[in-house]
Amino acid sequence: PVAFKTDSEIANAAMKRPIQEIGAKLGIDAGDLLPYGHDKAKLSQRFINSVQDRPNGKLVLVTAINPTPAGEGKTTTTVGLGDGLNAIGKTACVCIREASLGPNFGMKGGAAGGGYAQVIPMEDMNLHFTGDFHAITSAHNLLSAMIDNHIYWGNEQDIDLRRVVWRRVVDMNDRALRQITCSLGGVANGFPRETGFDITVASEVMAILCLSRDLEDLQHRLGEMIVAYRRDKSPVYCRDIKADGAMTVLLKDAMQPNLVQTLENNPAFVHGGPFANIAHGCNSVIATTTALKLADYVVTEAGFGADLGAEKFFDIKCRKAGIAPDVAVIVATVRALKMNGGVAKADLGPENVAAVKKGLVNLGRHIANVKSFGVPVIVAINHFVSDTDAEVQAVQDYARQNGVEAILCKHWADGSQGTLDLARKVVEIAEKGAAEFAPLYPDEMPLFAKIETIAKRIYHADEVIADSKIRAQLKDWEEQGYGHLPICMAKTQYSFTTDPTRRGAPTGHSVPIREVRLAAGAGFIVAICGEVMTMPGLPRTPAAEVIGLNPSGEVQGLF
Ligand code: ADP
Ligand code: MG
Repeated sequence: PVAFKTDSEIANAAMKRPIQEIGAKLGIDAGDLLPYGHDKAKLSQRFINSVQDRPNGKLVLVTAINPTPAGEGKTTTTVGLGDGLNAIGKTACVCIREASLGPNFGMKGGAAGGGYAQVIPMEDMNLHFTGDFHAITSAHNLLSAMIDNHIYWGNEQDIDLRRVVWRRVVDMNDRALRQITCSLGGVANGFPRETGFDITVASEVMAILCLSRDLEDLQHRLGEMIVAYRRDKSPVYCRDIKADGAMTVLLKDAMQPNLVQTLENNPAFVHGGPFANIAHGCNSVIATTTALKLADYVVTEAGFGADLGAEKFFDIKCRKAGIAPDVAVIVATVRALKMNGGVAKADLGPENVAAVKKGLVNLGRHIANVKSFGVPVIVAINHFVSDTDAEVQAVQDYARQNGVEAILCKHWADGSQGTLDLARKVVEIAEKGAAEFAPLYPDEMPLFAKIETIAKRIYHADEVIADSKIRAQLKDWEEQGYGHLPICMAKTQYSFTTDPTRRGAPTGHSVPIREVRLAAGAGFIVAICGEVMTMPGLPRTPAAEVIGLNPSGEVQGLF
């Protein structure tokens, strides 16, 4: 068998260009780049302001079928397609999320793509990068400290100690902090109460940073966050604690998009990284909208499968940012199709055309769903070396019967040379201007009806189940002026249903809503179906055990 290089071996061997050269490809003067070392830079606010009047380039969304636990290669395909578009002579820019530190030390798997379709410096990107997540952690925890301090010095806002909803965050997988008691140790330390930690990417501050247009919008949204309730159940806002100004100061640099490069020296913005379950799971609005002013083509990714990720990209990000995708690429792998066809994870290796065929209903439903937003679809088959010709053929035949083209892509092995056909097809469709994007539901639809619309039209469920407490809560929010907000669904990424084991394209299911949460600053209502984890743990054998520096000072074991 052929020996493959690891992602980090490939990344470390890359011929990086100085970041100023990468900026020049997008027409950015060196003076408008704020360099972090030689290979990363933030983009100045002055420059961002100066390009606002330009026309937008084409926007390409990369999404996927319901995945295997390993992921389907959306990031890898996003990067590969960006390089492919550049290779056929377009100016293309990739926009992806930043990585959370915690998961790196748990299970292997980075956020920078893989094989010959990666952004670099991938080690930095997966570690401290330009400090954005540290800034978000600090801003979040400043507010936490100010809330307890407010209570300590007399509690002028009359906060009910049992109803402080603002928790603390840390960018680490640390299950020991999920539920804690704080302020222990006597009168000098305040009033003991129960609270806990979430991982930084689950912070509402992260979601806000990713949805804000500019610093003014950022501060306004931070001020709108609900941090606690009084005994009469009225909300206490971040602005009541007077933390929004100082938080904005801490976030001032973090708001600026980070420019890096792909392995083929093409530009990529890596900025923001909200959770894909309790938040919307896309890179920042400011990075995407800026890239659209600078490039012919912007390729971006949404988290999880298209039922969750693409729906939230359309209904939350595009709606709020006023942008519209020209074409969507649905990534499918033979492995995930087999899984959707009922094959266990351990048995994905050997050829199994029957299972692929059985799993294709999952792809079919995602194609129809994405088309229902008025966005033209292309399927990208992300090729794994274990895929057989017959398996690939089955996918292509099925897609053609469904009125779309499925293009075999070998970017993981071949970089841009593996996505030339996909890039040409993307250009052909985008230039036709056939997209007629519209979100799934209007702002003025009642909140419960929005949840039902998503469940019925996207998950193909028969009904939504919610007890009277949840319905009453939604009604209350409507009366308080939050009825226009979009819904952010939090459900398993492995199934159209709320049961991760139900693969394929199930029908006849119901969607139970366990809890609803208002993210008043981010501007959405989270509908939780099933377990949501806002603080992951480490596995029995964490990847951290084998990460270290080798004698020449290089990082080993990270990926
Ligand atoms: P997603 O964005 O969908 O979560 P990624 O692009 O991050 O997925 O890929 C997940 C993992 O799978 C990465 O470690 C990547 O290197 C690997 N991977 C992606 N595509 C391929 C492929 N075609 N062959 C082998 N490994 C791949
Ligand atoms: Mg990804």
